[in-house]
Amino acid sequence: MKARKILRNLILLLLLVATAAGLSYRYLLYRKNLQAAKTPLSHNLKLTSGDRVLVVAPHCDDESLGCGGVLARASDMHLPVKVIIVTNGDGFRYAAVLDVRKLKVKPADYIRFAAKRQEESLEALAGLGVPPDRVTFLGYPDRGTDEMWLSNWSTHGKPYFSPFTRSDHSPYANSLTPGVAYCGENELKDLERIAREFHPTVLFAPHPNDAHPDHWATHAFVTAALERIRAEWSDRHDPDSPSFRRASAPRMLTYLVHRGVYPAPKGLRELYPMAPPYDLLDCDTLWLKFELTEGEIKRKERAVLQYKSQLPLLRKYMLSFVRKNELFGIYPARTPEIARRNLRIDGDFEDWAGIPVTLPDPKADTVSLKALGAADITDITLARNKRFLFLRMQVRDPVAYSVDYRIHLHTFTREDEDYIPFKLDIGFRRPQRIKLVVHSPTDTTFSTRVLRARCKSQSIELSIPFYLLGNADGFMISGMTKLEGINVDKTAFLIVPPS
Ligand SMILES: [Zn+2]
Repeated sequence: MKARKILRNLILLLLLVATAAGLSYRYLLYRKNLQAAKTPLSHNLKLTSGDRVLVVAPHCDDESLGCGGVLARASDMHLPVKVIIVTNGDGFRYAAVLDVRKLKVKPADYIRFAAKRQEESLEALAGLGVPPDRVTFLGYPDRGTDEMWLSNWSTHGKPYFSPFTRSDHSPYANSLTPGVAYCGENELKDLERIAREFHPTVLFAPHPNDAHPDHWATHAFVTAALERIRAEWSDRHDPDSPSFRRASAPRMLTYLVHRGVYPAPKGLRELYPMAPPYDLLDCDTLWLKFELTEGEIKRKERAVLQYKSQLPLLRKYMLSFVRKNELFGIYPARTPEIARRNLRIDGDFEDWAGIPVTLPDPKADTVSLKALGAADITDITLARNKRFLFLRMQVRDPVAYSVDYRIHLHTFTREDEDYIPFKLDIGFRRPQRIKLVVHSPTDTTFSTRVLRARCKSQSIELSIPFYLLGNADGFMISGMTKLEGINVDKTAFLIVPPS
């Protein structure tokens, strides 16, 4: 009996120590963000009279938090504006519990709650000068669009099933495509359709390092949609002509909403600058500030306060976005280039020396990543020769058996009639057990024997024969780590152009 009591107290003590260590690490990250905010940003974003502004928001509220000031300015300048809201925020359980005032929230409650969130967006946007007919709801599932991007891709396969609305298609009559099945392919088509019809010159979307799955997934979908439009245009037009650049390649600016202790400090501080979090200062984003006038700041604050369903839980956090400037990142800051090398996949990494990193990722950027160095991705480097794409992923501590390492590749090929991306997911655990999952329009299967992988210390190297990528014209790549099925770290999805 006594031994059990001692054990219980010991566990309690350990839990307390772990919580205290976690909290103090979060506080340290918070201090680092405050420190980073002292360095002024030298680049400014300006809207011009010829601009057409498209804002893509994962949930009802992101458009106001990330781009409320831009939208107010654009409407004052009488610029054509369009706002796309990808999900109706129908998976925010705690807010729904408060809204319906019962602990067991039913699917129909989530759907009613979503309608309320849509109303909040329309009111917030009206105050920013964007009328309802400029707002499009796509109706995709809250907390499900990352799975649509990674797994539930094809319309011929199984759609994503929302555990909240208990539906695998949009139950909302006002979605762009009513009844649309929850498949990645459909979201891509919807985004493409709007981008083709609206012809934005400047497009605002979430930053690829945003920690919320719907946010980074929205970035990936928007990037893919633009790449498909660009590829189609470059087949038909002279890519050096100004009209090509205008019509095919809007400037894409990214905004950040969820990233650990960002923004610091919290609360309404209209005179305080909005600055990038310290861990994204050296990760290939060019940060720009968009200075707001006093009137724009006030309008943004009023827009944020329209979100009455969110304020009881998130008031202080949401008001942290009302600052003297808004913040946007160009990602990647430079076009990635793949070095040409003949490399051997042999666990000896000397032949990688001198090859520049393609995809840097923040280190120890969360409490769990501080504790799990074997799952903390630090960078990915790419190289190629005629036949193979070579990839090296590095983690902070030596590679561990318990961690699942994954590489996601989405390719773009012109040979495909519909330009449907071809997805290749490579997952492997330490003893060279490679699992290859391919999603392609033809559902081609491949043997994992065509892939070679080795790991040693903090590095994993891998070669992928190009024929597996279906003569890709370009691809998007991301690294991810999982522990017991739970995502631990994920790099941005980077688009790599053809070379
Ligand atoms: Zn969001």
